[in-house]
Amino acid sequence: MTGSASRRRLLAATLGLATLAATTGATTGATTGTAAAQSPKRIVATFTVLADMAQNVAGDAALVESLTRPGAEIHDYEPTPLDVVRARSADLVLWNGLGLERWFERFFSRAGHARQAVLTEGITPIGIGQGPYENQPNPHAWMSPTLALVYVENIRKALADIDPANAATYAANAERYAAQIRAVDARLRESLARLPADRRVLATCEGAFSYLTRDYGLREAYLWPINSEDEGTPRQIRAMIDTVRRTRVPAVFCESTVNDRPMRQVAREAGARFGGALFVDSLTAEDGPAPTYLKLLEANADMILRGFFGNQANR
Ligand SMILES: [Zn+2]
Repeated sequence: MTGSASRRRLLAATLGLATLAATTGATTGATTGTAAAQSPKRIVATFTVLADMAQNVAGDAALVESLTRPGAEIHDYEPTPLDVVRARSADLVLWNGLGLERWFERFFSRAGHARQAVLTEGITPIGIGQGPYENQPNPHAWMSPTLALVYVENIRKALADIDPANAATYAANAERYAAQIRAVDARLRESLARLPADRRVLATCEGAFSYLTRDYGLREAYLWPINSEDEGTPRQIRAMIDTVRRTRVPAVFCESTVNDRPMRQVAREAGARFGGALFVDSLTAEDGPAPTYLKLLEANADMILRGFFGNQANR
């Protein structure tokens, strides 16, 4: 591996591009008819789920983009020089925090150019608590609709901070979006309550559902604690087969951004149904089943119900 060499090249390229960006001037968006006379603020989020939340709060008053594309793996993402330029030239950078974006921290110091907000600020993390991750927080807090409300409030505060002229717009958008999140939360609570009491286990590839399962009274089982190079080892597969047999859980799932082969093997050997790919670390493209955060939550709940009950799950 030539990690440090490629990193040096990346940094050199970044500096070159940054100079270029500074001399050509920042991109300006089209006028969107907001109260503010200046061009809309440019917000960069580290991944698609955060970008969608931010877009809902920003409405037409600010431009939001995601550094990583739909479907991208976000734990070990390698930022391009252009990513770094895009973030540095933004008016605001939105992070998840809880150790998710270590790939980006290396290139974009928190004392860097743009203003920034960590959206898990104020959330008490659940620990991963396994092996090499023993003292690390589980970063997937957005999977809890209740905690998503904290994300939304942190986004509202950060936007009002950099763009006080549109603060009232952001507050109104945030309130409307929070109501939508609460409505989806209520629907999920009702539908997931139908899962059989003695088999309330959500078995997935990554341990990404700690926050969601806590919200809805499920137990979590997973092949590996967090996406890394250590995915689907024979030992992990063995342990999951045992768990599925012991709990008699009818269906197992994987996540859309990782290889589902190990879990398909578990399903075959343990006699469970492979329920499909849940959405966690990324939205889908516009024409996919999870183009927004709210649709991601609903698509997952539908998939879990179908996995447990077959095609009659949703009447
Ligand atoms: Zn993840």
